[in-house]
Amino acid sequence: MKYTVLGAGAMGLRYGILLQEAGFEVDFVDIWDKQIAAVKQQNGVFVSRDGANKHLVPINISSPEDYQGDPDVWIVFTKQMQLADALKRSQHLFNDKQYVVTAMNGMGHIEKLNQYFDSNKVISGTAMIATVLNGPGDVDFMGASGAGSMNVVNQNEKPDEMTKKIVEEFSKANLNPKLTTNFQGTLMAKVILNSVCNTLCTMFGIKMGEFIQAPTAEKLSKQLIDEAFDVCERAGITLLNTREQEWQAIKYASTTAMPLHFPSMYQDMDKNRPTEVDYINGYIYDLGLKYHYEASTHDFLRNLVHLAEFSKDFD
Ligand code: NAD
Repeated sequence: MKYTVLGAGAMGLRYGILLQEAGFEVDFVDIWDKQIAAVKQQNGVFVSRDGANKHLVPINISSPEDYQGDPDVWIVFTKQMQLADALKRSQHLFNDKQYVVTAMNGMGHIEKLNQYFDSNKVISGTAMIATVLNGPGDVDFMGASGAGSMNVVNQNEKPDEMTKKIVEEFSKANLNPKLTTNFQGTLMAKVILNSVCNTLCTMFGIKMGEFIQAPTAEKLSKQLIDEAFDVCERAGITLLNTREQEWQAIKYASTTAMPLHFPSMYQDMDKNRPTEVDYINGYIYDLGLKYHYEASTHDFLRNLVHLAEFSKDFD
């Protein structure tokens, strides 16, 4: 099938280049002029793994305004706060036949995708795949070849033939997809993991493997997990994990899967970019309010991250 990546940053490049290397036709559409200019100027993207084996991979990249392709599947990987604008700029490229897949962090993206695509063709998911954009045209696929995995879930919870084909092709690209049929539960499990690891690692400028060694890691994590589960129970969301399993998932991600990873929220803070905290801890808090429950630790953390963003202006 033919894929076009919208949002050719760290994750968009990783998905697109792995699919391209697996033999599929892939184009890239990006919204950051510096990225497009660097890739065009150097005739490709510099790709490394854990800082080693840096090599140039040729790709086709355009702005939404310059692109003319008609893919079978869009792969969307912007940051949450960039998505509305990216979709608006690309809307002339969308049609009823196309599917869209995304594994963005946080919540809020699906409603935006539904404005442009048939909701039966919106496939979401979660990615445990650590990737860093060092700068324009320069990406690090962290971990060994085949490292990381993802969940894939249809918004309508009914995997059709096209979904199965996408999963098959993602498998060939070593993205290790697992098809699930619990839409809200799959997405919220990752939101909860991110609400702990991304946010706390970002606040203190530490890697996941450093965070998990802290004597307070378990207590902090469990407080956030408990509040998030209380919210989900009130909202009628059936999570895939129990509270204890969610803590074990955080431990596994931090000690085994991605110990050397600075979460993407940290990378944004480090580069003075706004973070996705409103779509992660903020989402949990706001969802709780709809059910008359205050997830106040999540709100406090969200506000601390905003304070850290604000304080960057005084560095
Ligand atoms: P990214 O910031 O690398 O790229 C997203 C978009 O921002 C791209 O269009 C990119 O060109 C642009 N961009 C990058 N740097 C910029 C800058 N300095 N100024 C302006 N624009 C810039 O984002 P990502 O890490 O690919 O994340 C995409 C989504 O996937 C997010 O929801 C993220 O939380 C999620 N995610 C990321 C990882 C990871 O390890 N990076 C893992 C799982 C999920």
